[in-house]
Amino acid sequence: MKPAFKRILLKLSGEALMGNEKFGISGEIISSFASQIKEIVDMGVEVAVVIGGGNIFRGISGAAKGVDRVTGDHMGMLATVINALALQNAIEKLGISTRVLTAIEMQKIAEPYIKRRAIRHLEKGRVVIFGAGIGNPYFTTDTAAALRAIEINAEILAKATKVEGVYDKDPVKYKEAKKYDKVSYSEVLNKGLKVMDATAISLCMENNLPIVVFNSLVEGNIKKLVEGETIGTLVEG
Ligand code: UDP
Repeated sequence: MKPAFKRILLKLSGEALMGNEKFGISGEIISSFASQIKEIVDMGVEVAVVIGGGNIFRGISGAAKGVDRVTGDHMGMLATVINALALQNAIEKLGISTRVLTAIEMQKIAEPYIKRRAIRHLEKGRVVIFGAGIGNPYFTTDTAAALRAIEINAEILAKATKVEGVYDKDPVKYKEAKKYDKVSYSEVLNKGLKVMDATAISLCMENNLPIVVFNSLVEGNIKKLVEGETIGTLVEG
């Protein structure tokens, strides 16, 4: 079967890696992500991943406890590199070749991010994992996902969450919350819908990059997406 996308960017939050643990990385969850990624690599899809760090450290929460914001954001970016290495390890265990590329140089453990290099790896069938966000404080890994997806010409940004998609209100708190099948960038921004932060949405809007928000706890969803099935919520035009 011909996949619906040739190149996708998958955004995994740090929190998603925690699973039922209170902190850090759940071995079970990371292996599940790795095998779901392998499934679509085996279908011939080029896969890039941006990984968050919220399971370890977030600059904004650190700032609330007295950590200087810029220092906290640096700590947060380093946390994403820890997650990137864990994901790399889990994927390589399945026999898939990967590269971690970081926005903050640390060449003893990963390659520096260079757009052309990232694309070359993808063309060779390697899973590219982007660590350290965009490398600057005051940004999020959602913005990094939007930026990297645009830079590498990914056809879609697949944002993994714990719910089925985008809702008009928090579905965990409100039973009557309604899920959108499709929603526009401007509606997301105007209504303040919880998809990604405004910087990330604006970048996608300006560059016509569609976003699909889907439940990553349902195994097989990533495969369905690349098979062209409608899953989650599509954010575009
Ligand atoms: N961060 C940053 N610049 C970036 C990306 C991330 O400063 O380009 C920091 C920021 O402190 C953020 C933390 O890294 O809170 C972890 O990333 P994020 O909160 O986006 O992770 P997620 O919510 O996806 O787990």
